[in-house]
Amino acid sequence: MNLIILGPPGGGKGTYASRISEEYGIPHIATGDILRREVNEKSELGKKVEDYLDRGALVPDEIVNEIVKKRISEPDCQEGFVLDGYPRTLAQAKALDEVTEIDLVINLEVSEEVIIDRLTNRRVCRDCGEIYNLKSMPPEKEGVCDKCGGELYQREDDRPEVIKKRLREYVERTQPVIDFYRGKELVEDIVAEEERPIDEMMGEIYEAMEKGLTA
Ligand code: ADP
Ligand code: ZN
Repeated sequence: MNLIILGPPGGGKGTYASRISEEYGIPHIATGDILRREVNEKSELGKKVEDYLDRGALVPDEIVNEIVKKRISEPDCQEGFVLDGYPRTLAQAKALDEVTEIDLVINLEVSEEVIIDRLTNRRVCRDCGEIYNLKSMPPEKEGVCDKCGGELYQREDDRPEVIKKRLREYVERTQPVIDFYRGKELVEDIVAEEERPIDEMMGEIYEAMEKGLTA
């Protein structure tokens, strides 16, 4: 099953996507992770995109389209995949439409208050990428990853000024993407409020997936 998870920055896309990936044994493809890895490795591509990531600006469509097109053509994606953070613009959605068929789009609805709170408290392990939240999921030892002992840092784009910009960008650029998939009747809206246990939302997502599988 070919799936897309849409939702604002800090909306928890990554968490849902990796759960689905485990449950259904299909790869989790996060364009943000791929791009950050390239930056870390200081590859040619990484040098090209670093500035965009730091500013919280979108990387040009041609670059991400190429990355995703290549990734989903690999053998492990033939039974399906979960896209996280892509497509983010209408041009990306149209480019994707030309190379594959999407079965379901999960649209996470999260309030702005929750997003800002989550992003400002988010810390990431420099070595293994594990994600922490200073309030809800703090590491045992301050500044140190529980899993690998790596250093925890705050993403450049998780600073408050940049968060606002990313949220604006999301509304402007990604709303047309949601509308595009609504037109194809592929969208399942999930209200992802802080108080709701994640298993409850996962249940809704799996239900929508099963419906799609038997339809
Ligand atoms: P978040 O969803 O929290 O903003 P991501 O890890 O998905 O974080 O993305 C981080 C950054 O990577 C974005 O701000 C943008 O610069 C770049 N990026 C990721 N996916 C895309 C995409 N589909 N198109 C353009 N830029 C992207
Ligand atoms: Zn770690």
